[in-house]
Amino acid sequence: MSQPTDSSRQQLREVATGVYQIELPTPFSVGPVNVYLLKGSEWTLVDTGPHTSAAWDTLCGALKQLGCQPADLSQVVLTHHHVDHVGLLQKVREVSGARSLAHPLAVPFVEMDETFMAYHNQFFYRLYRESGVPERLLSVVEKYHRMLLTFCQPASIDVLLKHEQPLPGLPEWQVLYTPGHSQSHLSLYRASDQVLIGGDHILKQISSNAFIEPPRDPAQARALPLVQYRTSLQMCAELEIQLVLPGHGEVVTDHRELIAGRLQRHWERAGKLRSLLADGEKTAFQLSALLFPGLYEQELALTLSETLGHLDLLTMLHQLEIRQKEGVFYYSL
Ligand SMILES: [Zn+2]
Ligand SMILES: [Zn+2]
Repeated sequence: MSQPTDSSRQQLREVATGVYQIELPTPFSVGPVNVYLLKGSEWTLVDTGPHTSAAWDTLCGALKQLGCQPADLSQVVLTHHHVDHVGLLQKVREVSGARSLAHPLAVPFVEMDETFMAYHNQFFYRLYRESGVPERLLSVVEKYHRMLLTFCQPASIDVLLKHEQPLPGLPEWQVLYTPGHSQSHLSLYRASDQVLIGGDHILKQISSNAFIEPPRDPAQARALPLVQYRTSLQMCAELEIQLVLPGHGEVVTDHRELIAGRLQRHWERAGKLRSLLADGEKTAFQLSALLFPGLYEQELALTLSETLGHLDLLTMLHQLEIRQKEGVFYYSL
């Protein structure tokens, strides 16, 4: 196998033994996404990048420098179902026949099942209305759906992964279920050198959003993603980790310090919410406008998830009263 040249360092780096990080461009504000190629008796790709020609060309170029090509990939593991991580899965499968592995909750998103997507959109219309989002901003639901159709092709999942199982084909890697950022989020841990492939669970430069998702069973209540996220972070803080290989940005070498900072920040934001409620009840949308001025309309899904997550945290601790009036929830101290 040929070694990467200096000129290719930006896109391709061996970041741990037999683990190659490939940085792929995305059209999203988050910037480039890191996917990982794992060398075993066969090649495993972790995440694929979005379905764009720029991401595909960069992936093919990086593989070529390693002396392989997309057709050589035998399996693709997904850290979670977000479009910047899974968009190219179908294309990779078409050229390689690689099997796909993911958490069961990723399946309807990756398959882009029409019944599920219709339910998904209805869930968000209702959530946003209950949160007091004005009607003029509800088009964000359709906008998200169009974005999915643009940057992702429907694909099948062949193997369902669960917490603490060895990764098929690469048993030195253990699958960890790390929900919060998404309900389907998995990380991969190699105990021999204490390396964690962390997807979007632990990021250095960005504080990961705990996105609200519809429950798989419409009869159930939605999960509390920020509460889950904190539990998953605490689980990782208890692990011995030398190196976190993230889905975006630089590697993390001080995961405990970073996690402690994130957990602390959640309490600070929860405290801010309490102070914003001191002068009377407010909707989640009104609170998101006060917490994220200048961003709350443009990044509605993100800022509202963040606000609702912190309201969940306070509600769980019996620190809030919730009143429903004409289908809208109002929070007070
Ligand atoms: Zn993500
Ligand atoms: Zn991402």
